[in-house]
Amino acid sequence: MTACDRAAHAFRTVFDAEPDGLWCAPGRVNLIGEHVDYAGGLCLPMALSQVTAVAVRRRDDGRLRLHSEGFDPVDIDPGTGRVDGWGAYVAGVVWALDPPGFTGVDIAVVSEVPVGAGLSSSAALEAAVALALAELCGLPTDDAGRDALAAVCVCAENDYVGAPTGGMDQQIALRGRGGYALLLDCADGSVDHIPVDLARHGLTLLVVDTGTGHRLVDGRYGERRTAVEDAVSRLSVRSLRDLHAPEDVDSLDDPVLRRRARHVVTEIARVQDAVARLRAGDIRDLGPLLDASHRSLRDDFEVSCLELDTAVDAARSAGALGARMVGGGFGGSVIALCESSRVAQIEGAVTAAAGRHDLPRPRFLHAVPSPGARRC
Ligand code: ADP
Ligand code: MG
Repeated sequence: MTACDRAAHAFRTVFDAEPDGLWCAPGRVNLIGEHVDYAGGLCLPMALSQVTAVAVRRRDDGRLRLHSEGFDPVDIDPGTGRVDGWGAYVAGVVWALDPPGFTGVDIAVVSEVPVGAGLSSSAALEAAVALALAELCGLPTDDAGRDALAAVCVCAENDYVGAPTGGMDQQIALRGRGGYALLLDCADGSVDHIPVDLARHGLTLLVVDTGTGHRLVDGRYGERRTAVEDAVSRLSVRSLRDLHAPEDVDSLDDPVLRRRARHVVTEIARVQDAVARLRAGDIRDLGPLLDASHRSLRDDFEVSCLELDTAVDAARSAGALGARMVGGGFGGSVIALCESSRVAQIEGAVTAAAGRHDLPRPRFLHAVPSPGARRC
């Protein structure tokens, strides 16, 4: 059964009624361009085939009743103040979108996106709800409409949930295209679609969920953002995007700031390189760029950890063409570009390496560039 079928089934079971419609939105991995969004950089996420599905039915009493497998049910009366917990991701979208004529909904959620693994289950949930409400309330859902919905989801997550998020997750969840990654220019918000034809080249993009969660909440994300801002002001540039060579950061006296800035400058150059190679159809050439991205995140930006390094090293040793940590760091997931014929062997090597270090057993999924949020 698809996630949408399961959401419809859950809806009938929990609310004893037929939903008005079914919508879904994907999780994502970022091919390359990590920790550069808040520096006005470039990133290259692609939507996964794994989705979060919602079955939705309008109410007429202003209530918001939410059900999601494995989470506590939520029931919000119109007069209730802010909600906490997972319901905030949905209530936040309702609050930020403020759809015309909205009089409450029942929603059943079913997700195939691992939660808290750095694959953006939060934006998948927000985007599915946002598209559902937009369609039910007659708001536009063309490219410009989706761009506006992505901004609504960012607002929900930043200002209602209270989680820092740059906007990449929401853009790809709403604007992904099957067979393409999304080149997102974080300086001006413009996007471009870049072909990623893994299957034609006999390649698989393996995602390793290390099972350690990502741990952004303890201030280290904020420290990295502050370091980037410091570097910008000490170098007297508008943004690190204005620098093009690693030597351009050498004038920073502070060795830590120098490393942080060097990561941003070199990572943006790697994204440009990756886009050129994808456009030329040289997809195997992404391998060395993924490796270089990981080294930069590990050594210059210092956001990797034992779980991520272990998975990356094991995948490389078992024959991956390239591998890197993805997401904010300190846990979460890794991607490895693999010949499809070697995937089973690489998965085995990654699992064995985790076992040797007494780490949680990793989980695997295969990333197929997929469409963004849609009705199902
Ligand atoms: P991720 O990397 O998966 O986006 P986040 O910490 O940003 O991690 O978001 C995870 C949170 O989003 C969960 O703790 C939960 O509150 C909410 N969430 C995501 N998916 C679901 C779901 N299917 N059902 C209920 N809540 C969800
Ligand atoms: Mg998230």
